[in-house]
Amino acid sequence: KHEGRNTYRLYRPEMDIQAQDSLALETQLRDMLEDGSGLVMHYQPLFSRHSGCLCSAEALVRWEHPVRGLISPGEFIPLAERSGLILPLGNRVLECVIDDMKRWQQQGLTPVPIAINLSAAQFWQTGFAAGVRQKLQDAGLSPRLIIFELTESILLDRHAQGLAVLQSLSDSGFRISLDDFGTGYSSLSYLQNIPAYSLKIDRSFITALDSQTRSSRAIIAAIASLARELGLTVVAEGVETRRQWDELGRYAIDLVQGFYAARPVPAESFIDWLHAPRF
Ligand code: C2E
Ligand code: CA
Ligand code: CA
Ligand code: CA
Repeated sequence: KHEGRNTYRLYRPEMDIQAQDSLALETQLRDMLEDGSGLVMHYQPLFSRHSGCLCSAEALVRWEHPVRGLISPGEFIPLAERSGLILPLGNRVLECVIDDMKRWQQQGLTPVPIAINLSAAQFWQTGFAAGVRQKLQDAGLSPRLIIFELTESILLDRHAQGLAVLQSLSDSGFRISLDDFGTGYSSLSYLQNIPAYSLKIDRSFITALDSQTRSSRAIIAAIASLARELGLTVVAEGVETRRQWDELGRYAIDLVQGFYAARPVPAESFIDWLHAPRF
């Protein structure tokens, strides 16, 4: 009833546990987003291989559930997307990150740029760039401190309109990073028109470095050299071992993110990295 008119739910006895479970979870997610108190941001550092310097960090959301404990975004982001909760969730994430950055600045720490994952719904929301810009301005923060990560799939069908949105983000001073690069279906030629700052080679290619397959090495080398030609910064994500870390040097990939260097940590622990920004 609290959902108002024009909505109804059928009771179906055959509904399996999992479906009931996800209905309950959806209701809890909706309730939680009203005050946002159950959302926790974790931050994972990105380092320069060459200098060991902390260059930026990725904001990764978690849900602190009263019964289940910390739930990973892989579990509730798809649910939020299906149930129309992704916009309020995305807004909460933005507010959390802006609050954290403001606090770091007040503590006299030098903030690093923070990468935020964008969902398609946020990307296509009218006036999104201007809205975030205003929030940052209110907090006294520069848009250069925000990197928006988005996947190629967002741009898939509405290419020309997508480019216009990207341009408005870029004109507002935000940087754009193409996430999970190499896993989508887009042609590489579209890269030359995109006002992107960096691209992140998907973890699957980095993991494959451990096997003897030559194809993943060829793909990494090709993506890295193409990105360089286009003036984009290349990031390797999901670097878990010293061996992977070292091998990335062969492809002149400098920026790395992964468990080998640092796991995602809550804001309270991330300030340790801001105090000593070196791996
Ligand atoms: P992603 O954007 O590809 O984020 C990287 C994921 O890889 C994170 O998982 C991170 O914890 C994990 N990871 C980092 N280093 C390593 C490593 O060395 N090895 C392995 N095996 N994994 C590593 P997480 O935090 O569970 O996030 C999963 C996905 O949820 C993200 O994938 C992103 O697509 C989405 N997500 C996270 N936060 C947000 C958010 O605030 N908004 C939206 N729309 N999506 C989010
Ligand atoms: Ca990401
Ligand atoms: Ca990624
Ligand atoms: Ca991924």
